[in-house]
Amino acid sequence: MYSDILLFIDGVWTKSADGADLPVVNPATEETIGTVAKAGVKDLDRALESSLKGFKTWKATPAFERSKILRKAAQNLRDRADAIGPIMTMEQGKPVGEAKMEALACADVIDWFAEEARRTYGRIIPGRAGNVHQLVIREPVGPVAAFSPWNFPINQAVRKISAALASGCSIILKGPEETPASCAALVQCYVDAGVPAGVVNLVFGVPAEISEYLIPHPIIKKISFTGSTVVGKHLAALAGRHMKRATMELGGHAPVIVFDDADIGRAAQIMAGSKFRNAGQVCVSPTRFMVHEKVFEQFVGSFVEHAKAVKVGNGLEAGVAMGPLAHDRRISAITDLVSDARKNGAEVRTGGERIGNKGYFYEPTVLTNVPKTARLMNEEPFGPVALMQSFSTMDEAIDEANRLPYGLAAYAFTTSEKRVSHLSANVESGMLTINHLGLALPEVPFGGIKDSGYGSEGGQEALEPYLISKFVSHMSL
Ligand code: NAD
Repeated sequence: MYSDILLFIDGVWTKSADGADLPVVNPATEETIGTVAKAGVKDLDRALESSLKGFKTWKATPAFERSKILRKAAQNLRDRADAIGPIMTMEQGKPVGEAKMEALACADVIDWFAEEARRTYGRIIPGRAGNVHQLVIREPVGPVAAFSPWNFPINQAVRKISAALASGCSIILKGPEETPASCAALVQCYVDAGVPAGVVNLVFGVPAEISEYLIPHPIIKKISFTGSTVVGKHLAALAGRHMKRATMELGGHAPVIVFDDADIGRAAQIMAGSKFRNAGQVCVSPTRFMVHEKVFEQFVGSFVEHAKAVKVGNGLEAGVAMGPLAHDRRISAITDLVSDARKNGAEVRTGGERIGNKGYFYEPTVLTNVPKTARLMNEEPFGPVALMQSFSTMDEAIDEANRLPYGLAAYAFTTSEKRVSHLSANVESGMLTINHLGLALPEVPFGGIKDSGYGSEGGQEALEPYLISKFVSHMSL
């Protein structure tokens, strides 16, 4: 059922030039289930030439045609969601229902960009003389190098590919080596829809080697990266040195502020569902909970009950709500962070341990009394860990929300309109959602501020960095 995955260059699935590959491991069983081709410099050079050829073809394709092809790609993905689901679960771990939902939601993302493809409007500026015509023309910037991670193998890739294609750019995507098959299945949806050879290229390999080669290369005109802040800063610096535009979707440590006027049971239910989704390996995962002191124990008690009820297991099994962490690096990272918090006085309300020793399973975990000096209170856990603390005043809660250099997502629960206004004005975050989960729809901006990066991967803002503005002043003689 799981196929070995090749590189996709110039419209052809191909082995790497030197035949090298990497193993793909099922995180629920730790078994090797396949291989992924490992690109070297020869492959990257071919991908670069291919992306240049693809750019020329695609730029010359009318926006209306590009839009129609993208719509077909969306339908292909929708039609294939049932088949892609189990493949994603085998390589990434998430429950198969969630994997199918990811594919279906991504079809909507492609549809959104298909619509936006027809709206890359320029403008006309009135001339100072009657025979002077001043035009601002929007053009695709050129071939894009994009880097997408393993936590949402399709969702992270689809936003980059679709924004590039909607704008008229070609793309070389370095997909996730841990989860290559679902990313390859996504690429096949665009290919089968009629995207010409060279427009979409997919490579895998050693991430640092590929980014160091592609980003400075003169053919590449724009970078998009999703991953950790540390790597993002490194790649942003590289892009800056070579005057390349960049979109950086980086880490977070999302604060959640729960006021005493909120429906506490509902808030705990929504937030526990969000926290343990994809085993907490989500950049917008709620992590630092600030709960008003009057309702602290009530909220924590309810949240812990939800955490205990989460059925953890192989995502292919019925009823499983949380799969394993995606790879062994996450197990050691979470184990170290929780152990550091415990040493610093944290109280474990539930969880706190790896489950068994086969498969990268970790218990849904809730900690209280975690001091601000503990690593967990400062570093993105990227795992199923919730940190609970109480507050007494709104300013205290907002100060804590803004304490870290991250600024990706923030959550709040309150029925007071006054508090909503105050939070909206004062929480330092690229996204804030109040009383519900309102993030990540294709039509709304998706991105962070501060160390969480810059640029947006959703909404009309997402196309901006893929387009240049060319000014033409024309005098009719
Ligand atoms: P990592 O930092 O090694 O890798 C994270 C991602 O960046 C991977 O997809 C990897 O392939 C890529 N990457 C790493 N170095 C790169 C380089 N030099 N050039 C190009 N790409 C590079 O860590 P990891 O163990 O895979 O994941 C752990 C951390 O990554 C998490 O704690 C989290 O902060 C971050 N992460 C964030 C997201 C997100 O959605 N923002 C997704 C996955 C991982």
